[in-house]
Amino acid sequence: MPTAERLGVDIRNLPVIGDFRGQLGRCSVKGCESEAVEDHHFAPQALFGTAADEWPRALLCVNHHTEWHQRIAGQEVKRHLI
Ligand SMILES: [Zn+2]
Ligand SMILES: [Zn+2]
Repeated sequence: MPTAERLGVDIRNLPVIGDFRGQLGRCSVKGCESEAVEDHHFAPQALFGTAADEWPRALLCVNHHTEWHQRIAGQEVKRHLI
């Protein structure tokens, strides 16, 4: 769940102080062309704390970022060996 939701803040009511769409890159999901991206941590900050920044990150569009966190929430994720 995004931080704003956890804090009970409706981000639609916040002023826009910067619009970086198209400046950071595209969503990392194959076939997604969205440039409205967010910074996704492989190691969620809620679980890893400050160590989260030591792990890789990827750009995800708002929809894919939300979907990822919704699918993972409350799941015990088994390690997938290739
Ligand atoms: Zn994320
Ligand atoms: Zn996407």
